[in-house]
Amino acid sequence: MGSTPLDRTERFHYLPPMPRAGFVTVAGRPNAGKSTLLNRIVGQKLSITSPKPQSTRERVIGIRTTEDAQLVLLDTPGLLDPRSALQRAMRASALRALDDADVILYLADATQGVPPPFTEAARIPSSPAAPMLTVLNKIDALSDGQRQDVQRAMPDAVPISALTGRGVPALVRMVAERLPESPWLYPEDEIGTQSLRFFTSELLRETALEQLDQEVPYGVACAVEEFREERSPVYIRAVLYVERESQKGIVIGHGGARIREIGRAARQKVEALVGAPVYLDLRVKVLANWRKNPAALRRLGYTLPEG
Ligand code: GDP
Ligand code: MG
Repeated sequence: MGSTPLDRTERFHYLPPMPRAGFVTVAGRPNAGKSTLLNRIVGQKLSITSPKPQSTRERVIGIRTTEDAQLVLLDTPGLLDPRSALQRAMRASALRALDDADVILYLADATQGVPPPFTEAARIPSSPAAPMLTVLNKIDALSDGQRQDVQRAMPDAVPISALTGRGVPALVRMVAERLPESPWLYPEDEIGTQSLRFFTSELLRETALEQLDQEVPYGVACAVEEFREERSPVYIRAVLYVERESQKGIVIGHGGARIREIGRAARQKVEALVGAPVYLDLRVKVLANWRKNPAALRRLGYTLPEG
């Protein structure tokens, strides 16, 4: 009468696979193709750099959620650039991105021959703890012979072309397999409107920091308060928060010149991101000492440790 119990293999067959999620740190020399690869992996045109990075959240440059894995991509600006006199804070942040990584992608331009070992390129004493995939990019630009040569020299490297997309789906699967079992780190719809909001606020903050240089160091936060994707042009209302009244004057500038310029530059980046004309309504407000105010930080989307 009773149903036949499933045998072991069948039982396992019916268990849904655990999702995997984690941080994927991307490192490569200038021109290796990092931005091109990111745009491929994330599947929309974006590549954000944080010139004054502070926390993991602010180093997030892209998120890709597949059926069973979520890749949260972190940047390491300048880490592998021998010419860049990196500010100590930036190098420290890039090194933290290696420590935070669940998987590291060491991206190299295959047209430049066999890349140096990662420890040498990054000038670090020992290999990072996370599993690393060496990725040979631009294989589309190699002759068959050249391709065979580099692959023979580096049999474990993953050959791709970020430009044509060749090898990229396989790379995403290899990364996913190496991520820890974990629930999603960001909401699944972070690749929808939610993420456009998220990336828009990151772009605004980045633009403000670029244009303010050191005048309001770390003092600017951004909140996107309204995002109407269905409108044409797309309507975005956003606020730049500063900590003090004096900083507000600096951000606004003489006769509003500075805020207009920030808005203009940011709008162009956001238009590239959403792929449509954008109307950006940008204001400046004082939120006293927001960096020390947990409620303000949460409101601005910062994740704080519990307790
Ligand atoms: P990044 O400095 O590491 O971010 O490199 P970019 O993504 O900006 O790419 C640098 C240059 O290499 C650009 O001109 C890209 O179009 C080109 N590039 C990137 N990936 C590929 C690829 O797979 N094949 C070829 N032929 N060119 C590529
Ligand atoms: Mg780039």
